[in-house]
Amino acid sequence: MNLILLGPPGAGKGTQAQLLADKHGLVQLSTGDMLRAAVKAGSEIGKKAEAIMKSGGLVSDEIVIGIIADRIEQPDCAKGFILDGFPRTLKQADALGSLLTSKGKDLDAVVEIKVDDTILVSRIENRARETLAAGGTVRADDNAEALKTRLMAYYRETSPLVGYYYAYRKLQTVDGMAPIADVSAQIEAVLKGAAKA
Ligand code: AMP
Repeated sequence: MNLILLGPPGAGKGTQAQLLADKHGLVQLSTGDMLRAAVKAGSEIGKKAEAIMKSGGLVSDEIVIGIIADRIEQPDCAKGFILDGFPRTLKQADALGSLLTSKGKDLDAVVEIKVDDTILVSRIENRARETLAAGGTVRADDNAEALKTRLMAYYRETSPLVGYYYAYRKLQTVDGMAPIADVSAQIEAVLKGAAKA
């Protein structure tokens, strides 16, 4: 089962990807996590990505496509994967399509987690507050200024993917305003449908 979770920052992609990965033994592929690890490790990719990520902009297609191409090759991805935060541009979506075709793989579903725009900012602010209260480190891009840039990047670059995957007949939309367990149940229903198709 190969899935994409699509949605704006704060929609709950990471939370749902992790739940699905645990339940179905799939690999969660979060380009955001991989890039944050690269920044922490001080690698070449990390050096290139750090300032852009901090500002809330998108890292170059070339870098993220390279990361995913290498990662999908790994044996643990054979059973299936959940892409969380990739693709984020049409170019990335095209590259992913070519990559999967060349490996004889396909997408089973693209799940759009739909949320009201107005709650995204408060969700992300809450995430930062909860992280602080738990003694954790708040993401460098979880602040008002970077969030504005992240939302703009989503609407400019990523939201066209909703139409793209609809045309590709892979798009399924779930209500991301529901409680976490309900969103999971909706996604499970989508997966059951995709498995039958
Ligand atoms: P995320 O954890 O998915 O919110 O990603 C955090 C940041 O990493 C984004 O704001 C971008 O700067 C960068 N990033 C993650 N995935 C991608 C991607 N597919 N394309 C471009 N930039 C990305």
